[in-house]
Amino acid sequence: MRLIVKNCKVFGKDTDTIYVEDGKFADKYDESKADRVFDAKGATVLPGLIDMHVHLREPGYEYRETIATGTAAAARGGFTAVCPMPNTDPVCDNPAVVSGILKKAQEAGKCRVYPIGAASKGLAGKELAEIGLMKEAGIVAVSDDGKPIATAGLMRKVLEYASDFDIPVLNHCEDYTIDMEGAMNEGIVSTSIGIKGIPTASEDIMIARDIIIAEYLGLPTHECHVSTKGGMRMIRDAKARGVKVTCETCPHYFTLTDKECESFDSNFKMHPPLRTEEHKQAVIEAIADGTVDCIVTDHAPHHQDEKVIEFSLANNGIVGLESSFALSYTYLVKPGIITMERLMDLMCYNPSKLLGLGRGGMDVGDDADFAVFDLENEFVFDKNKMLTKGRNTPYDGWKLYGETQLTVMGGNITYEKLC
Ligand SMILES: [Zn+2]
Repeated sequence: MRLIVKNCKVFGKDTDTIYVEDGKFADKYDESKADRVFDAKGATVLPGLIDMHVHLREPGYEYRETIATGTAAAARGGFTAVCPMPNTDPVCDNPAVVSGILKKAQEAGKCRVYPIGAASKGLAGKELAEIGLMKEAGIVAVSDDGKPIATAGLMRKVLEYASDFDIPVLNHCEDYTIDMEGAMNEGIVSTSIGIKGIPTASEDIMIARDIIIAEYLGLPTHECHVSTKGGMRMIRDAKARGVKVTCETCPHYFTLTDKECESFDSNFKMHPPLRTEEHKQAVIEAIADGTVDCIVTDHAPHHQDEKVIEFSLANNGIVGLESSFALSYTYLVKPGIITMERLMDLMCYNPSKLLGLGRGGMDVGDDADFAVFDLENEFVFDKNKMLTKGRNTPYDGWKLYGETQLTVMGGNITYEKLC
């Protein structure tokens, strides 16, 4: 397949045309030799985005999402690589499940999939999973996501064991001994509407624990979906004194607050929960000053029957793959809070580096993974156009910039906006 994308701005390059041949970025060739010429009409080419924290639900929960629908949604969001968390059924805690996921992803052909293995067997928080064997099968990290790595003792073992295999450890930061029954952030809003709250302390305690262990051992830890001011402060301070801690946050933590829960719409319910304006501003500050390493979606599709019910009973999580870039561009780059270079660190280069994926290159000979975004024209985000099976987005009807026009992975078109 020979593909030319013309009339484009190319991130970091002084050219208006890109050439693809045999799955790689290529030197200039004559347009007549191309199988396909895509007119970008002035849109911007960025390196393929990488989301290191998604839930693709397969195996086990195919009624919520499959690897095929999840990766199609990823492609529509401009992603060319995603990392699914292991809380499937069966749990991704052994090499057979890893291989099964990779096979399905290969068959779907929409996006590179780099599985994350469970840190503990069955996510039960008791004994270590088969990390070495899973690494051989293709995992790029371990996590018990959905739950924290249960105890400080287990976290120590996981960090030590995973470091022997050079495998990053990603921890879901909430101490469930504090917030077991809560459904939203604990504060004025939760009190006024009568929903049991989850204190920010729940997240802060887990982040503090991980930093203490990582500093003591001199080993790296990665804190998932950080949403609190205290968490960001501790991570910033720890980094400053040389602790090997990295972290991620999600678009919902810099675009929404717990005020939204007053609507009792369960599309505002997730773990960790939406926080107050003060915490939202702290997340934005941490993105701007370099404390945050990655923006991830925590893409969590659910069936209608699990979401369109009472707020307290609804499942946690929202879909994110198809809104993440546009939200990040509209709310961070457009108002001048960060540069496009910084956004590419957050959504491509840093996740690639952290997980050792070696992605993000756009030089001749590199794998042709890229996406074309319209940064000039506003569009309305429409949940009915989403390719994910989930409909649980809080962003339906939002006016955003940065609609995906085309996504290419390994030289193949994985998404194209139909006019
Ligand atoms: Zn999580």
